[in-house]
Amino acid sequence: MTPNEYMQTTDRNLVHTYNRFPVTLDRGEGVYLYDTEGKKYLDFAAGIAVSGLGYGNQELNSALKDQIDKLIHSSNLYYNTACGEAAEALKGVTGMDRVFFTNSGTEAVEGALKAARKYARKKKTGRYAYIAMQDCFHGRSMGALSVTEHEAYRAPFKPLIPGVSFAKFNDLDSVKELVTDETCAIILEPLQGEGGINMATQEFMEGIRRLCHEEGILMICDEIQCGMGRTGEMFACQSYGVRPDIMVMAKAIGSGVPVGAFAMTEDVAEYSLEPGDHGTTYGGNPLACAAVAKTIEIFEREGIEAHVKEVGAYLADKLDELAERCDAVLERRGTGLIQGLRLDRPVSEITKKALEEGLLIISARSDVIRLVPPLVIEKEHVDEMADVLGRVLASLQ
Ligand SMILES: *Cc1c(COP(=O)(O)O)cnc(C)c1O
Repeated sequence: MTPNEYMQTTDRNLVHTYNRFPVTLDRGEGVYLYDTEGKKYLDFAAGIAVSGLGYGNQELNSALKDQIDKLIHSSNLYYNTACGEAAEALKGVTGMDRVFFTNSGTEAVEGALKAARKYARKKKTGRYAYIAMQDCFHGRSMGALSVTEHEAYRAPFKPLIPGVSFAKFNDLDSVKELVTDETCAIILEPLQGEGGINMATQEFMEGIRRLCHEEGILMICDEIQCGMGRTGEMFACQSYGVRPDIMVMAKAIGSGVPVGAFAMTEDVAEYSLEPGDHGTTYGGNPLACAAVAKTIEIFEREGIEAHVKEVGAYLADKLDELAERCDAVLERRGTGLIQGLRLDRPVSEITKKALEEGLLIISARSDVIRLVPPLVIEKEHVDEMADVLGRVLASLQ
């Protein structure tokens, strides 16, 4: 089939839920992807902040192949060795006490929301309501969508679950105004990804932590996009010195194998989900867990956080240069290897042109270029990206 025939056939067979770029990817190597015509792309999207190790990491791939030969699936009727190892490793890097494995970020959010309500039930507080943040993103299922503040995503599916209110991100007073005797949890991303690369301030994160302690509310940190090394810390909340009651993760934790998790403190674990309350057939699947355990092993051995800090600072400098040279760029946002450029216009033309030039970049909301490359990129790749993006920005009218 020709590349065009591939796309047309795929379009006929799939439900039309995505606006895809006109390219069919075939394989990856390092930080580059190749399409069906053999065209090479520098990847600054990482499959939406997922492929931290890039492509073709032989150590990861052999671990996965070994696990396939040993055992792919077991269900949660039994223990399995890979799940045990992944849970131990994840506890180590999160600093949380207990882990529940899911198959995606959305499912991890669902589990966290359920755990928070069950906690209130067991503590007999009668609490059930959630506070989330404006411009947040937590997923598309009914529960996760209910705590996601994006009207275009919500409108077609109302009524969503009741008892959710949205505060202004980085405005502690606006959160306090929404707290009632019914509030069971506050959920937030320490660094909002989909919402435009917005970082929480130190004051806000500490303020939420204190408020939750004082009011008996659980703090849920959604680290799905900003966690797992991306900010230069293993998890973004750690750079604020804040330990949430529940931490939600996915995306990069399995290096591309679909897996998520929510982790909690011993207190929440003791007073929330019990046998029968929650479950999943695939969650804790040996193949997915082998990916998690190996990813964490490689990240720790290679010192991924220090690498991200170094290359991230270099990326910030390069983006600042671009911002200075191009009037359409209003500001640089983010940190580490989750950064963005906010423009005075929609960025879809720019991401499209970059694609033609062999650079994969994505947007966050309509006016922010989002840069979330594999965490293993080197400075030379940042230079290559900046050259292409600089050319594309210079061609703007
Ligand atoms: C991607 C994302 C989700 C949803 O994760 P899925 O794996 O797509 O279900 C939730 N929260 C945040 C912050 C995300 O970036």
